[in-house]
Amino acid sequence: MVHFEEIFTNLNIWLEVSAYPSPSGLSVYFKDISRRKQSEEELKKINRELALSNSDLEQFAFVASHDLQEPLRMITSFLSQLEKKYEGLLDEKGKKYIYFASDGAKRMRNIILDLLEFSRIGRTEEDKEMVNIGGLLQEAVDLNRKSIKEKQAEIIWDEALPEIYTFKSPLRQVLHNLINNGLKYQAQGVKPIIRIKLEEDPRQWKFVVADNGIGIDSVYFDKIFTLFQRLHRKEEYSGTGVGLAICKKIIENLGGEIWVESEEGAGSQFCFTLPK
Ligand code: ADP
Repeated sequence: MVHFEEIFTNLNIWLEVSAYPSPSGLSVYFKDISRRKQSEEELKKINRELALSNSDLEQFAFVASHDLQEPLRMITSFLSQLEKKYEGLLDEKGKKYIYFASDGAKRMRNIILDLLEFSRIGRTEEDKEMVNIGGLLQEAVDLNRKSIKEKQAEIIWDEALPEIYTFKSPLRQVLHNLINNGLKYQAQGVKPIIRIKLEEDPRQWKFVVADNGIGIDSVYFDKIFTLFQRLHRKEEYSGTGVGLAICKKIIENLGGEIWVESEEGAGSQFCFTLPK
């Protein structure tokens, strides 16, 4: 059997041609697929435009977050000068104002750094390597040692996790963000328990980071992966709302998917896949 698609320029139509041997010789079938071809072309054009506008947006985020750092440093350093030099002259209200302004500047700095990190995803040229997943998890534990001790948290994984062939730094970042959130989004006084699992099938690896925290209502399952979207006020839980957007961008860049399974009050499971 022979099967191919061909444009017939003089008729300006796309035809799908299938030819089969048959008792009387050869059967040839023609099917007009012009409409499908036209939609495919339109989709390709839209994707090209989208890729362009995404890269414009990333360029903007990169430049803006980079250039904003310098004026912000000025604000912070002059606020601290003001505090140091005029401390004796300021009343309580004055001191409070300086405190609020410095706190705002500090939060803005965190947002800028997160945004910079977000816009940098996919820019670094790193090669794939064999990555020891247990090692990455141990790094996360070491980095969070203080808060793990304070909260008496437990971070648990199977000692025999395999090594996988992938990009190390982005995977480290995703695991760190998810573990940090698991430690952070807990009710007062609860001892956080975070379990990390790694499952394998012929096509992909599947990671699960499960916590026993406050959980998430299913209406917010998509929203939380969007840049700057948070479900809590900064007074309840600190943060910039960029962490999960970073995770999503990294995982999708690597060809995988990320999602959450949860119920309010019943912990959350963040799952992501990496194709082999
Ligand atoms: P941030 O932690 O800085 O707010 P993220 O992008 O990491 O930003 O998370 C977005 C929002 O998703 C958080 O503000 C929180 O409301 C919710 N969230 C994230 N992780 C968890 C979790 N493990 N349990 C419950 N809610 C979570």
